[in-house]
Amino acid sequence: MTRERDVLRDFAAIVGENHVLVGADVAARHDTYPPGPAMAALGIVRPASTAEVAAILRYCDAHGVAVIPQGGRTGLVSGGKTRAGDVALSFERMTAIEAIDIPGSTMIVQAGVPLQRVQEAALEAGMTYPVDLGARGSATIGGTIATNAGGNSVLRYGMTRDQILGLEVVLADGTVLSNMNRMMKNNAGYDLKQMFIGSEGTLGVVTRAVLRLRPEPGVRATAWLGAGDFDAVLALLALAGRESSGALTSFEVMWPSFLDAVLPSGRHQPPLNGEHAFHILIEIVSRHAQDQLQLILEAAWEQGLITDATLATSDAQAHALWAIRDDIEALVGGLRPLFLYDISLPQVAMVGYLGQLRAALDARWPGAALVVFGHVADGNLHVCIHTGDESDHHAVDDMVYGLLRPLAGSVSAEHGIGLDKRDYLDVTRTAEEIALMGRLKHLLDPNGTLNPGKVLRGA
Ligand code: ZN
Repeated sequence: MTRERDVLRDFAAIVGENHVLVGADVAARHDTYPPGPAMAALGIVRPASTAEVAAILRYCDAHGVAVIPQGGRTGLVSGGKTRAGDVALSFERMTAIEAIDIPGSTMIVQAGVPLQRVQEAALEAGMTYPVDLGARGSATIGGTIATNAGGNSVLRYGMTRDQILGLEVVLADGTVLSNMNRMMKNNAGYDLKQMFIGSEGTLGVVTRAVLRLRPEPGVRATAWLGAGDFDAVLALLALAGRESSGALTSFEVMWPSFLDAVLPSGRHQPPLNGEHAFHILIEIVSRHAQDQLQLILEAAWEQGLITDATLATSDAQAHALWAIRDDIEALVGGLRPLFLYDISLPQVAMVGYLGQLRAALDARWPGAALVVFGHVADGNLHVCIHTGDESDHHAVDDMVYGLLRPLAGSVSAEHGIGLDKRDYLDVTRTAEEIALMGRLKHLLDPNGTLNPGKVLRGA
């Protein structure tokens, strides 16, 4: 106890007493999503600057205290989960948007600024920051960088790592590694920032970043479509990609099981009448988005690719359609406990994979709920399974990932590995890759200070 009190007192000397939270303030938070048991940690430390982050890490590295960086705490793989003796590093006081460079199309931010505020600031400057996901209101920029977040616009703009020009990272020993590069082109040796992006806080702690902005692409045209089979879905994707000249921003596919799970919440109007084998939320953003979408829909009707369509005629309608797709709360609220997966696999293998998964589930847990939706255009499916019993979780993981192995799919398309998928990293990565990851971890964090046990077993 004395040691704990000493540690907390030393943190207070760095960040100020008001910014070391303990006891009930820790227990009031959740560090997993969907929210699990209350958070347990020695304390939550809230630095206000990179220098304070560096001082905390230097201290923790020297005193054997594990540091768990936390952003919005809405990641889905327990990547920010703390243990009773750990210190949570919160970025809620580092939320500044420091600068926007319009000709250079960059924005300099601190790690704690929420994704949605970055999106809004970019729009106000006549540009766009194109990373977008359901948790936009809670996710912090630092968290999206640490996890290389994907989301709804990857098809057009790529993952978070494609939006980061420069990065400031604090290493385990407190060294500040600053590469706040603002140039599109910079081929001077190893691009070290890429090593930290997606490392889930295990190699260094992101404190600031230079984000790449894109031209504000114009108006959005949004429609909800029905399709009769998966071949039609893929043909529609090809058609939309061709006809939109690269302006296709989202192509979200939902199996009927998704609507069956979300609509009973009563929060949404059904987007289409009747039954459809597949539902598609398509969005084009360009100067001519409405015309392009009209042409795509006409061609799709002619070719028999769609069975019904609702075209959003206002922002409010588009918003209502997206609210269905983004309503993860209704999904997880209606089916507890729900096991969530974000796998990726070749599109041509999706139907076969899901058929095998359904059969395997039925053989062991007849009637288990299998809810499927995903970005499809980038190979990413969100698979959600409800057997009714939390103790089935590991066995269901084995089934979902085991069937993926022969397809050379990924156990994580976009959520990362965290704790939850650590034991399945070898489905997607070779033994040599995992060994090199371990060597990098040991090199950068020899004392195991940074988010220990996440991503790699025993690291
Ligand atoms: Zn997703």
